[in-house]
Amino acid sequence: MSAAPQSAGVLSFEQARETVLKHCRQIPRPPSEDVTLLQALGRVLAGPVKADRNFPPFPRATRDGYAVRAADLSSVPATLRVVGQIKAGASIDRAVKAGEAAEIMTGAAVPEGADAVVMVEYTSAKNTAGRSEIEIQVEVQRAVSAGENIVPVGAEARVGQEILPRGMRLGPAQIAMAAGAGQARIKVYRRPHVAILATGDELVEVSKTPGPFQIRNSNSFSLAAQVTAASAEAMRLPVAPDEPRKLATLIHAGLAADMLLITGGVSMGKFDLVEAVLKKLGAEFFFTGAMIQPGRPVVFGQIELSGLSNGSGKVRRPSDPGPIEEGNALPGRRMIPFFGLPGNPISAMVCFDLFARPVLDALSGAAPARLPVAKARLRKAVKTKTGLTRFLPAVVSSTNQLPANQEGGIFEPEVEVLAWQGSGDLLASAQANCYLVVPPDRDSMAAGEMVSIVMR
Ligand code: AMP
Ligand code: MG
Repeated sequence: MSAAPQSAGVLSFEQARETVLKHCRQIPRPPSEDVTLLQALGRVLAGPVKADRNFPPFPRATRDGYAVRAADLSSVPATLRVVGQIKAGASIDRAVKAGEAAEIMTGAAVPEGADAVVMVEYTSAKNTAGRSEIEIQVEVQRAVSAGENIVPVGAEARVGQEILPRGMRLGPAQIAMAAGAGQARIKVYRRPHVAILATGDELVEVSKTPGPFQIRNSNSFSLAAQVTAASAEAMRLPVAPDEPRKLATLIHAGLAADMLLITGGVSMGKFDLVEAVLKKLGAEFFFTGAMIQPGRPVVFGQIELSGLSNGSGKVRRPSDPGPIEEGNALPGRRMIPFFGLPGNPISAMVCFDLFARPVLDALSGAAPARLPVAKARLRKAVKTKTGLTRFLPAVVSSTNQLPANQEGGIFEPEVEVLAWQGSGDLLASAQANCYLVVPPDRDSMAAGEMVSIVMR
């Protein structure tokens, strides 16, 4: 084993978050791979996407109506001669001259000579029997200014311009941009693999019937779901009993991944062995607790792979390897970050969101996303104690009636803390769509106060 076991302290929420973010900056970028555009949804761009042409590539009409010369409409109503009809995807091979207009549809190319589009609503078409042929005319009732209802060539992006930067996570809007730039396939970073290890003698697998004093292992599923939702690859290990050797064997197995999430066994109880076993394996600890609730016992650190390797650079397989596979991890990674998350279901979920998610972002090649914080008005007073930053499961929704002061109308967000039975209350967690943040110096928050929430 290399580094001597280090102990680290219990940090404030801000210090713990900063420690995590500092560690994220040291994580190297993962290797990349080429995938189809839709497979890239949720993944992180490994190189910039550039505009392959101007956006828009032609002056685009944003309304159905008539392409005109604004100067012709200095006094209205004005009658113009209609010289053609332009559908989206087409144009006409002549310019619009003084006194002329071309009927045009939304998305079509505005012809030369025209410098504005007047909406069809402000026009009336009329056929006039001319001397030699039927002439189509339009009467325009409203003036337009030059440029109105036209997006000029390249106004959204110029050819060659970077439209999506490396390191950006691809949501539906980014996928649309890449599609517009002709990227049928796209280069993204490889997904990190995250091993999930639930510990505790009381746990049985979900498919088994628990004995009278046993509970089902739900944390492996909540964490696997959170990992999957973050577009990473979750690998669930078999449940580890509260027994040091078996625990060590399964932690070994977990180190074949890029990050290890352990739940349970990090509190102060007699059978909370995770920290001691990690220490024995040479782990370095960045913190061994955070002044938060839920989640106070959370542990964050890293283990150097070489100390545990069988010489081939791969982690030794345990006698019972479970569902984990060797060689999945990103090549070249020596330091494996780990979290010891409290076993309480809500604590585990909150700690993932607050601390593990940024590391997962970094392992995915992205800059860690900021916490999705928002402000809302507190519906009912909350009483707590000072000393910890609290993240209480809550529901935020928009008010459906005008508040007394009329400000904000029906869209003002209102938040209400759920009645919960403590960190083990899965039902409260399942109903929550955010957490109310109670700062450590507050023992109460009044109804009507504007408060911070973290969305989930
Ligand atoms: P621990 O952190 O090991 O002290 O566990 C705290 C509480 O969380 C206990 O009530 C455990 O039974 C419960 N718990 C621990 N691990 C899990 C798990 N994987 N799924 C559901 N509950 C758990
Ligand atoms: Mg336990």
